[in-house]
Amino acid sequence: MNFDSFALDKRIMAGVSRAGYLVPTPIQEQAIPSLLEGRDVLGLAQTGTGKTAAFALPILQKLLNLDAPKRGPLRVLVLAPTRELALQIHENFVELGGETGLRSAAVFGGVGQTPQVKNLRQATIMVACPGRLLDLMNQGLADLSQVDTLVLDEADRMLDMGFAPDIRRIVSRLPRQRQTMLFSATMPEEIRKLTREYLQNPVEVKA
Ligand code: AMP
Repeated sequence: MNFDSFALDKRIMAGVSRAGYLVPTPIQEQAIPSLLEGRDVLGLAQTGTGKTAAFALPILQKLLNLDAPKRGPLRVLVLAPTRELALQIHENFVELGGETGLRSAAVFGGVGQTPQVKNLRQATIMVACPGRLLDLMNQGLADLSQVDTLVLDEADRMLDMGFAPDIRRIVSRLPRQRQTMLFSATMPEEIRKLTREYLQNPVEVKA
């Protein structure tokens, strides 16, 4: 299999070439077709498997299909446990989506919020750590009313770090009509529970 079989927009394929990807990884092969169909996906995958591109490529394609405005409002929310992971995901979106004109913004704590808020105003995709995002929401600085795609990445780590209440507060403010994907390296009962709450009839994929 190669990337051509997904029939991605040529602007996205330019990003795939720039990233130097030649063949899809197993998780990409399994997840991308279902995500392109609009299905919810539950992914059992660790970092290093190519899981970021597995969700980033179909998300970029969906935004192009919808002819989403390039500079906001926010349509996509990716929640990640740490600043490092949030930055990596954001950089992956920038690399793969560079030719699409779609903007991504990263939001995490430990640094001033002003530049992040400025970037958010121009972004269609937000990659955020739950704590800082909730802060911004409570100040009225992040409008999630148009978000119709949600990714919970490294969900088991987010729960281990005690983010469950923050995640619940954030997700309760999102439109109910949306596509949701959850990736986790492990599937303990709490993750299954989250899955039952947030995913509708998900396709399960494994790295
Ligand atoms: P991830 O699991 O998303 O953190 O990705 C791990 C690394 O693999 C990152 O550096 C990606 O850029 C890279 N990668 C993702 N997909 C592919 C692919 N199909 N071929 C080669 N490298 C890839």
